[in-house]
Amino acid sequence: MSTISIFCGAIINPQSLTEYTVLPRALLAVDPTGTIAWIEREVDSCDVQKKINQRLSELKASFGEDVHVFVTELQDGEFILPGLVDTHTHAPQVPNMGSGQQYELLDWLENVTFPMESRFRDAEFAKMVYPDVVRRFIAFGTTTCCYYGTLHLESTKVLADTILKLGQRALVGKCNMDRNCPDYYREPSAGDSLKSTKELIAYIRSLNSDLIHPVLTPRFAISCTSDLLRGLGDMARSDETLAIQTHIAENKGEIAFTKDLFNECKSYADVYDSNDLLCERTILAHAVHLDDHELDLVKKTGAGISHCPTSNFNLRSGMAHIGEMLDRGIKVNGTFLENVDDGELTSLLQVGLGSDVSGGFSPSIVTAIQHASMCSKMVALQIAGRPSLSAKSSRFAGKQLPIATLLYLATLGGASLCCMENKIGSFTPGKSFDALIVSVRPETGNPAIWSMPGEFSGARNQTEEEAKKRLDALLEQFLFGGDDRNILKVFVQGKCIGGTLLRGSLKN
Ligand SMILES: [Zn+2]
Repeated sequence: MSTISIFCGAIINPQSLTEYTVLPRALLAVDPTGTIAWIEREVDSCDVQKKINQRLSELKASFGEDVHVFVTELQDGEFILPGLVDTHTHAPQVPNMGSGQQYELLDWLENVTFPMESRFRDAEFAKMVYPDVVRRFIAFGTTTCCYYGTLHLESTKVLADTILKLGQRALVGKCNMDRNCPDYYREPSAGDSLKSTKELIAYIRSLNSDLIHPVLTPRFAISCTSDLLRGLGDMARSDETLAIQTHIAENKGEIAFTKDLFNECKSYADVYDSNDLLCERTILAHAVHLDDHELDLVKKTGAGISHCPTSNFNLRSGMAHIGEMLDRGIKVNGTFLENVDDGELTSLLQVGLGSDVSGGFSPSIVTAIQHASMCSKMVALQIAGRPSLSAKSSRFAGKQLPIATLLYLATLGGASLCCMENKIGSFTPGKSFDALIVSVRPETGNPAIWSMPGEFSGARNQTEEEAKKRLDALLEQFLFGGDDRNILKVFVQGKCIGGTLLRGSLKN
C-alpha cells in the first residue's frame, strides 16, 4: 500500500536572496513518490482534519483509494526547513577533521591530505570508512552533497554505492591528478585518468538512481596536465548533463604556482575556460582571490561559486567577498535591473555553501552558515572607511549577510549551483520533499540554544504576526547555535534517511 505523508506545523521556506516565507501553521502533503503534492499555508488547529479530508480526495484520485495517510504533527518549537545543500566537500578527508591546522593549503595537502587519501587505494578501507562518513553529513542535515572521492576508481564506486544505500542525494566525482602530487598518489597518465573517469561515470549511471549523479573532478589546475584538462573539457562539452567541480583561487601560493604552470593563460579562471571547463554546470570552490576579470568570466560562462568559509579561515586562505559576487550577479527574470523588489532577487552568479572537509573542520552546513556570516562581517569591517568601496550603493557588498541570504545560500542557492533548483531547495508542489524537521526544544540537549523554563509547554495565544516573529527568532537560534542534536528527521525524496529520531528508533 502506498503512503501519503502530511506534515502539520511550522514551515520555513526560502524564496530569494532576501526573503523567506514563515508559515507558523501549515499543512504540507507528500505523495507516495516523495514529491510535494500541495501546501495549505494557514490552517487553524480546529480545521486541520477538515482540510486534510478535503484535499485527500485529490490524492486518492491520483494514487488509488487504498492509500495510507500518515499525519505528523509538529510540536511548538519544531519547524520544517528544506534540506541543506553542501556544494563542496571531500569524503576521504573526513577522518582528518581537526588535523593539520598549522598548515596553509599546499603544505596541508602534502602532509595531511595526500597520505590519508592514498589509503583509499584499498577498496576494503573505503568500505570500512565511507558509511560512517556519509552518515555524518546526513546527521547534520545535508540532503544533497557534492563529494570529491580520491583518484581511485574502485573506492569511488564504493562511495557511490554507500550514498545510494543511505539514500542521500549527491554528485560524486573521482579526483583527476596526474602531476605535482607525490609518487604514491598520482595517476600514471592523462589517458589513465580519463579512462577511469569514464568508467566511473558509466558505473554511477548504471546505478539508475535519480538521486546520484557523476561529476567531473579535476582536483585543481596544479594537479592536472594540459592534456588531462583538455580531455576533461572535451568530455564536458560532449555531454550536457555532466557536472564539473574543481577548486579555484583558494590560496595565494596556489595561484602563483598555477600562473607559473600555465603562463600561456590570461588568468587562473582562464586555465579552466580555455579548456571548456567553465559552464553553467561548473561548481568552483573557494574563489577567495578572483580578480574583476575572472569574476566577469565566471559570470559570463554561467559557472558558480561554492563559498567555503570554515576552510578559508582554517587554512588561512582568506575571505571571499561574497556580497560583491552577489551584487555582480543579481538578475530578475534573466535581465539585470537596478530597482527590483527584494522578493524577486535571484543571482545569476550562483553561490552556495561548502563544508570543504577537512580544510573545514566540520561536516555541518550550519557551521558554514555561521562562518559565512562572520566572514561577511569581517569583510565589511575591512572595507569600512575606504570610500572607493562604499557599501552604500550596494545591496550586499560591504554588509553583513542577512539571515535570509544565509538561508538561501544553504538551500536554494546551493540547489541552483547544482542545477537542481527545479527539484530541491524550497517547498513548492512538484518539487521533491528534501527536508529537515528541526527542534529547538530543550529536550534536544543542546546547551547553545536557550529557552525559558516552560516556554514550549501549553497553548500559545498569539497573533499570526507574533507567531511569525517568534519563528524568525527560533530559526536564528538554530542557525547560530544548532547542531545535529536539533535535527530530528532528515528526508530525501520523502524518505526519512536520518536525524535523531531515526537514530533513536534504530537503537530500540
Ligand atoms: Zn576542497
